[in-house]
Amino acid sequence: MQRLFTARLGDLLAGDLRAFGGPSTIEPLAGRIRAEQVSIVLRNTLLGMVANILNAATFVMAVWGSPDQTKAILWASVIIIAAGFVGLRSRSSFQTVKPRSVSRRTTQNLVRNAFLFGTWWGALPVLFFGGATSAAQVVITCLSAGMIAGGAASFYTIPIAAIAYTLPIFVGSAVAIVWVEDAVNLPVAILMVSYAITLFRAVLAHAFEFTQRFILQAESENAIRRDVLTSLPNRFSFNERLENALVDAKQFDQHFSLLLFDLSNFDEVNDRFGRAMADAVLVEVAARLRKSTRESDGIARLEGGEFAIIAARDIRPDQIRFLAEQIIDAMRAPFLIEGREIYCKASAGIALAPADGLDATHLLRCVDTALHRAKTLGAGSIQFFCASDDEAAARRHALERDLATALANDQLSLAFQPFLDLGSDRIRGFEALLRWQHPTLGAIPPSEFISIAEETGLIHAIGHWAISAACLAAAQWPRDLRVSVNLSAVQLKNKSLLDGIAMVLSETGLEPKRLEVEITESVLISDFEDAVSLLQSLSFLSVTVALDDFGTGFSSLTYLRKLPLSRLKIDRSFVQDILTDADCAAIVRSLVQLAHELRIEVTAEGVETPEQLDYLRRVGCDEAQGYLIGKPVGIDDIFGIAAKAIGQEQNT
Ligand code: C2E
Ligand code: CA
Ligand code: CA
Repeated sequence: MQRLFTARLGDLLAGDLRAFGGPSTIEPLAGRIRAEQVSIVLRNTLLGMVANILNAATFVMAVWGSPDQTKAILWASVIIIAAGFVGLRSRSSFQTVKPRSVSRRTTQNLVRNAFLFGTWWGALPVLFFGGATSAAQVVITCLSAGMIAGGAASFYTIPIAAIAYTLPIFVGSAVAIVWVEDAVNLPVAILMVSYAITLFRAVLAHAFEFTQRFILQAESENAIRRDVLTSLPNRFSFNERLENALVDAKQFDQHFSLLLFDLSNFDEVNDRFGRAMADAVLVEVAARLRKSTRESDGIARLEGGEFAIIAARDIRPDQIRFLAEQIIDAMRAPFLIEGREIYCKASAGIALAPADGLDATHLLRCVDTALHRAKTLGAGSIQFFCASDDEAAARRHALERDLATALANDQLSLAFQPFLDLGSDRIRGFEALLRWQHPTLGAIPPSEFISIAEETGLIHAIGHWAISAACLAAAQWPRDLRVSVNLSAVQLKNKSLLDGIAMVLSETGLEPKRLEVEITESVLISDFEDAVSLLQSLSFLSVTVALDDFGTGFSSLTYLRKLPLSRLKIDRSFVQDILTDADCAAIVRSLVQLAHELRIEVTAEGVETPEQLDYLRRVGCDEAQGYLIGKPVGIDDIFGIAAKAIGQEQNT
C-alpha cells in the first residue's frame, strides 16, 4: 500500500497527468512525453530567469532606504544567484539536441526547483508586506501576481510544476494579507482563491490537450512503423533504427551487428497451404522471435519470411552467433496451424558494423550476401559476411546482367548425356543439359546460372529455347532415342509452358513420346494441384514425365501413386553409397521394386564405377546415367555414342 503510494507520488512528481484525471501512458511513451514537456519548459527558462532577476531588483529598488533594505538585498541576492545559475544551465542544455526521452528523475528535479523558487517568492510577502509602505505593498502585490502568472505560463505543460511554483506564492500572499488585518481581507482572499482555481483549470486544460495531441501523434507515428500482421517494427522502422545505429557507431565508436533471417520454405508454405496459413506461421514466428531475443535486440519484419535484428549489446562474434543459433533453434519445432504441422527452417546472415561497413546500403548488401551463402549451404545455416563474399556478389551481379543477353548472343548451348538401358545395354536417349560460355568468365555451370535465371524470370525464355533446341536435335536422331529436358519449378508456374511445348513438337516434327521432361519434387511441393494438371496435360500429349533427384527432397511415395510419372531418377548421392552403405542399398532395392509395381521405370544417376553398375543391374534397375556411361557431350558427338553400348565397349 505504502509502496503504491510512493510510486503514485513519484508518477505525480514526474509530471504524470493521471492524478488530475489525465490519460495514462506506458513508460516509453511517458518518457517521450516528458521530453516534450521538459523541452518546452526549458525553452522558456532563460526568459523566466531574466524576469526573476529584474523583478528581484525592482523590489530592492522599491524598499531602498527603508529599514528592510539589507534584508531585501539578502533576499534578492539568493534569487539573482539562483536564477543566474539556472538560466546559464538552461541555455547550454537548450543548445544540445532535444532528447527523444527524458527520465522521471529529470522531471522530478524540475518540479523540485520550481518549488524552491516558488517558496522563495512566497516568502517575499510574508517577510516584507506587513512592514512596507503602501507604495511598496503595491509593488509586492504586483510582483507576486506577476510571478504567479508567469510561472503558470512557463510550466503549463507540467501542471504539477506549475502548482509547485505558484502555490507557495499564493500561500505566502494569503498569509501576508491576513496578517495585515484589514476589512478588505475577506473579499481579497475570495478573489485570490478564484484566481487560483481559474489559473489551475487553464493550466490543466492546456496540459491535457497538449498530451492528448502528443499521444495521437505518437500513435500515428507508431502505426506507420509497425507491421500489421505481426505487430513487429516494419522495414520503415528498421531503416530508421539502422540509420540511428550507424550515427551512434560513427559518433561514439559503438559497434553493432546486423542479423538477417529468412524462412527457407516460406514461399512454398504460401503456395501450398495458402495465404491465411502462411500468415499464421508468420505470427507464430514473430512470437518465437520475441521469446528468444531481448528487448534491446531490435527485431523487425522486412518482407515475406524475412526478419532482421540490430543487436547493439553483445558484439563479440561468438555472442552474435549464439543469438542467431537461439533463433534458428526456436524455429525448429513444427508450427501447428489448423491441426497441421508445418516446418519452416530459418537461415541467418550476419554483418558487423563498423568492420563490414558504415553505410546502410553497403551493410545491407553485406548481410544479404551472407544470408545468400547461408541459404545455399542449407536451411539452418549461419554465415558471417566475409570479404570474398563481395567478389561473389559482384560476380553474381555481372552474371545477372550478362545472362539477359546470353541467348541473343549465342552463348548458350546444350550438352547431351546418355542413358544406358541395362536390359539391352543400348543407349536409349540423352538428357539435354544447358551450358553457358561467358565471353570473359568462361564456362558458367548451370548450378550457378539456373538460379539466377529463375530469380530474374529469364528461365522462361531460356527454358523454351532449351526445349526447342533439344527437340530440334532429337528429331535428327534414330527414332528409338528419346531426349529429356529439365524443367524448373518456376517454368511450371507459367501458363504458356504447355502451349510452348506443343508448338515446339509440331514445328520440329518430333514424336511427342520421344520427349521426356524432368521435374524435381520441389515443383510438387510448391503447387501440387496445378503441377498435377499440367503433368496430366503433358501425358495427354504423350510426353513422358520423370521425377528427378529422387531422394533428396521430401521423397513422398504418394507422388509416385498420384502422378502420371513414367520414370524415377534416383539421385546421385544414393548411387554413390550403394556399395558402402547397407541402408542406401536397401533403399535403392526397395525403390526399384516399388516403382516397378506402379509401372514406373527407374534410372540411376551418377554411375561412376563398373561395380555400381553391376549392383544396379542385379537389383533390376532399368537405366543408368553417369560419367561411366558417358559425360555430357556436344551435339556433334552424339552419333558416335548412340551407336555404342557400354557392354560392347567393355568387351572390346
Ligand atoms: P541434373 O538434372 O541432376 O543433371 C545431372 C547433373 O549431374 C549434370 O550436371 C551432370 O553433368 C552431372 N552428372 C552426370 N553424371 C555424373 C556423374 O557420374 N558424376 C557426377 N559427379 N556428376 C554427374 P550439370 O550439367 O552441371 O547440371 C546441373 C543441374 O542444372 C542439373 O541437374 C539440372 O538440375 C540443372 N539444369 C541443367 N540444364 C537445365 C535446363 O535446361 N533447364 C533447367 N531448368 N535446369 C537445368
Ligand atoms: Ca535432370
Ligand atoms: Ca538429377
